[in-house]
Amino acid sequence: MYSEPDRTVFLPLAQLSSLVARLMALGYQCLGPTVENGAIVMRELHSPDGLPRGLQAEQAPGRYRLTQDPHKRYFAWANGPQAIKPQTFAPQESLWRVERDVAGGLRFAAVLPAVPAQAIIGVRACDLAALALQDAHFLRAGRRDPHYAHRRGQLFLVAVQCVEPAATCFCASTGDGPTPTTGYDIALAELTDGFVAVAGSAKGAAVLDTLSLAQATPQQIGAARQQGQAAASQTRSLPGRNLRDTLLSQLDHPRWDEVATRCLACGNCTAVCPTCFCHAEQDAPSLDGHSSEHARIWDSCFGEAHGHLHGFNVRPDIRSRYRQWLTHKLATWHDQFGRSGCVGCGRCIAWCPVGIDLTEEVAVLKASEVQP
Ligand code: SF4
Ligand code: SF4
Repeated sequence: MYSEPDRTVFLPLAQLSSLVARLMALGYQCLGPTVENGAIVMRELHSPDGLPRGLQAEQAPGRYRLTQDPHKRYFAWANGPQAIKPQTFAPQESLWRVERDVAGGLRFAAVLPAVPAQAIIGVRACDLAALALQDAHFLRAGRRDPHYAHRRGQLFLVAVQCVEPAATCFCASTGDGPTPTTGYDIALAELTDGFVAVAGSAKGAAVLDTLSLAQATPQQIGAARQQGQAAASQTRSLPGRNLRDTLLSQLDHPRWDEVATRCLACGNCTAVCPTCFCHAEQDAPSLDGHSSEHARIWDSCFGEAHGHLHGFNVRPDIRSRYRQWLTHKLATWHDQFGRSGCVGCGRCIAWCPVGIDLTEEVAVLKASEVQP
């Protein structure tokens, strides 16, 4: 993030609202952290000084509680229940509709989302890594998803370096955080009196240029670096970045039966996971029979119907569904995308109602691995 110190500027605290105002003036709908139902979610900011201060989120397996940050920082919270996923891969959206014309023929038409240009303020390094994985899936050569591509093209991303990761975070062990390194338009590191700011794209540089900011001093850059290194000391971790062979050699381990006694198959972990992309498609015909809408909705490998093939179910029990989730995420993603599907955000740990912790599950499986 600070590889070009001469292009690293300092944004005083009082000018954070100028950055938001500039983005609004450029026509962006600005989304920022907002408290809703006791959690931090990304919602539209209606004024340039609408960003909340002094919020933190205490997280543990099955637990998420907002607390007060004594230093009144803007971005002291680690992450909320959703990353950027709902902005690019909508939870539910129409893909196409069909209408019957007067002669009885059918007319099909694609439905493209009407979304404004959006600036998201407060994106984390793990969110950017997850977005890159979603890009690899939805924008792959020959299978480009037009709905995702349209939403993705509308984004301007203001990332922030994490100051105090939650107890559930383990992005340092997956190599995806806590300092944003790529994929942002502007990245900020919050110090007591302002932000060390770096542009990551021409769009981001153009925005920072309009704010007439002074270059960051070596002391400010040093403090930001130090903060990133401190934030990388996390208590949770995965025992390696490629666990493919470990997990695939443990498909009959009794731990899958044990975890199945705790897992509710509720699908919360897949809903909050920023890299999960499974979906179902369904039709909604009008009552008069003249039209029908074809929609895509998020789905989960924990749902019974997800494993239903013609005439039988390949994953008839919770044991096989939890195993499918973990082995796809951490093992067979390597075959599909050349890396693990986990960016270490810890959301599946905090938002699991019974507190199942994938780092704990993997540690048990890893401990039983027979070394060659
Ligand atoms: S692991 Fe937890 S969040 Fe995921 S399906 Fe099971 S109970 Fe639900
Ligand atoms: S598997 Fe869990 S920790 Fe990993 S990216 Fe998904 S929600 Fe985050």
